[in-house]
Amino acid sequence: MIAWLAFARKGGFNYWPATGRLSKEQVLAISALSEYEDSLVLDWLRDGRSKAQSDGLPSQENSAAFPSNETQADQFDNPQTRNKPHSNDGRVYWCTACGMEKGRSYKNCDDWKREEKQHEATYICMLKGVREGSAESSTCVFCGATNPQESHFGIHNVQMCASSNAKQFSCKRRRDMVRHLSKYHYVHGVSHCEAIATNWKKTLSKKAWSCGFCVKTFTAFHERLKHVQVHFEQGKTLADWDATTVVQGLLQQPRLDEAWKAKMLSMPSFELSYLTWTDTALKDLQPRLEEGPSDDISARALADTAYEACEVKWWFGSD
Ligand SMILES: [Zn+2]
Ligand SMILES: [Zn+2]
Ligand SMILES: [Zn+2]
Ligand SMILES: [Zn+2]
Repeated sequence: MIAWLAFARKGGFNYWPATGRLSKEQVLAISALSEYEDSLVLDWLRDGRSKAQSDGLPSQENSAAFPSNETQADQFDNPQTRNKPHSNDGRVYWCTACGMEKGRSYKNCDDWKREEKQHEATYICMLKGVREGSAESSTCVFCGATNPQESHFGIHNVQMCASSNAKQFSCKRRRDMVRHLSKYHYVHGVSHCEAIATNWKKTLSKKAWSCGFCVKTFTAFHERLKHVQVHFEQGKTLADWDATTVVQGLLQQPRLDEAWKAKMLSMPSFELSYLTWTDTALKDLQPRLEEGPSDDISARALADTAYEACEVKWWFGSD
């Protein structure tokens, strides 16, 4: 079977998609071929090729689609296909959380660290409700009015963030919460808004951090920061930052590591495939992996979640 797959590559079955990515369903379908005689499989492949050609699909050079058998994540990406960040005039430090689209870069390392640190917390509107104090004696969190009636909160437009179907506003920067408070909840005075916002800051409970340049796990934020700083100073840019590497690092954290290895052992033909994660998949997955498992059961669930979010990419080990 492997010989035929290798043949498929060398012999120019050239309708393989250039990305080299197969869905999990496709992988299962290909695995099922091992049940059949080689001659049948060959006929099927030939048949598939002639159909693809008669359908007028462009023939694609597929050699770039299959990385060599290095485990370095750098190999996953064809550098020509990735955008290089814009000219950075000496700004070597890039915010790894904002990503390429926002492209926040800094000349000064401390500014960069401050930016990265902002992503470790989040400001959530009305985090602790709209009243402060006890049931008998309370004040309005927005204006300090004592023992406000429910109707009072109408003047602060609280339904925008507090009603059951509203999505609570959240942001990464205090100044964005200050703006939100004055624009939507009609709170006046910058320092007053800042005090409210500070009270609504929630530090994320993370257990693990990772690097997008190399597969590594950190159990403290400042260690991760120091590590990534060195990469930037050695010339890495966000174009080299890789979602798969981020996930692989996080999967190595205590507990999850064992759960993930057990998951991989239970998979057929794992040694023949790479698992990759896209930037889109990373958005939901990364916070969950960083929060980490609390016990072995949640570690297994997290390993399942990580697998659900991946794509399977094949290479042929016989080369
Ligand atoms: Zn950022
Ligand atoms: Zn009020
Ligand atoms: Zn709000
Ligand atoms: Zn690294």
